[in-house]
Amino acid sequence: MPFKAPPTPKCPKCGKSVYHAEARVVGDISFHKECYKCSMCNKMLDSTNSNLHENVLYCKTCHGRKFGPKGYGFGGGAAGLSMDTGSQFEQ
Ligand SMILES: [Zn+2]
Ligand SMILES: [Zn+2]
Repeated sequence: MPFKAPPTPKCPKCGKSVYHAEARVVGDISFHKECYKCSMCNKMLDSTNSNLHENVLYCKTCHGRKFGPKGYGFGGGAAGLSMDTGSQFEQ
């Protein structure tokens, strides 16, 4: 019975295969350690200051600059309560 090894993930930054020992995994995407940096300012990232947007890494600062301070959380869940009571001014 042929065993198929899972395909080696490709780093979206440089397009080369990422092996486990050098992988930085964000969600289901693997980056090389040296590719795990902000695409705008090239700052090296770690899991506390990285933001992934459409397979492109940004640091918190650049992500905020590019996509606004809301970043994620915008458009997800929390649809505010409707305050529309349809009230009319009657005297
Ligand atoms: Zn890479
Ligand atoms: Zn940056």
